[in-house]
Amino acid sequence: MNLICAEKLDKTYRAGDVDVHAVQSVDFVIEPASFVAFVGPSGSGKSTVLNMIGCLDRPTSGTLTVMGTDVSTLDRNASARFRGQNIGFIFQDFNLIPVLTAYENIEYPLIMVQEWPAAARAKRITELLAAVGMSDQAHKRPDQLSGGQKQRVAVARALVANTKLVLADEPTANLDHDSAYRIIGLMKKMRDEFGTTFVFSTHDPKIMREAELTYALEDGRLQLGTGGNHV
Ligand code: ADP
Ligand code: MG
Repeated sequence: MNLICAEKLDKTYRAGDVDVHAVQSVDFVIEPASFVAFVGPSGSGKSTVLNMIGCLDRPTSGTLTVMGTDVSTLDRNASARFRGQNIGFIFQDFNLIPVLTAYENIEYPLIMVQEWPAAARAKRITELLAAVGMSDQAHKRPDQLSGGQKQRVAVARALVANTKLVLADEPTANLDHDSAYRIIGLMKKMRDEFGTTFVFSTHDPKIMREAELTYALEDGRLQLGTGGNHV
C-alpha cells in the first residue's frame, strides 16, 4: 500500500489581485519506509507540497491521501490531531524551543501532542538521545549546541512519538558539509531501524544522491521523467 498518494494536486494562493499557482496538477506516490526528495529551485513549490502532506495547508483541488486518510477534507482540529499522531517535522532552522534543554525539546511532542506516562516517556527520550548521539548533551539548551547538534535534537524530536512519517523541509540548508552528511546518515539509519519514511524538500545534492526517489518541481509542476531514481 502507498503511504502517500497525490492526484492532480493543486494549490493556488491569492496574493492581492493575482493568483499564485504554487503547485499545479501534481501526481506522486510514496511508499512506506522510503527516502524521497522533492527538489527544484527556490519558489518551485517544494514547501507547499510538504505543507499539504503535513496538513499545515490544504489543497485547492485534487486528492491527497496520507496513510489511508484523505487529508484534503480534514478540518482544523482533525488535521491537528492527524498531524500529532502521524507526522514528525524537521525544519531548516531547527525550530527548537530556546528555553528548553535538548531533553525537554525531545519530550515536548510526548507531552503536548500525545499523552505518555512519565516512565515510558523518560525511557523513550533516553533511547532517542542515544540514537542521535546526544546523551551527554541532554541538559544543554539550544544556544549551547552547534547547528549539527541542534539538528540531531530536531531529528530525535521528530521521531520520538514513533510516527511513521517525517517531513524535512531543507534540513541541511543551515549546516556545514560534515554536519549535513552526519544528519543525512542519521536519518537513513533511523529509516532502516524504525521503518520511518522521510520526505525531504531540498536543493542539497548530498540528499539528492541518497534519496531513493526524486520528484523534481519547476514553477509548481512536476518535471517529466522524474519520480525515478537518481534524477
Ligand atoms: P519552495 O519551497 O520550492 O521554495 P514554496 O512552496 O515556498 O517554494 O512556494 C511556491 C510558490 O508559492 C512561490 O511563488 C511562493 O511565493 C508562493 N507562496 C508560498 N506560500 C504562499 C502564501 N502563503 N501566500 C502566497 N504565496 C505563497
Ligand atoms: Mg521551501
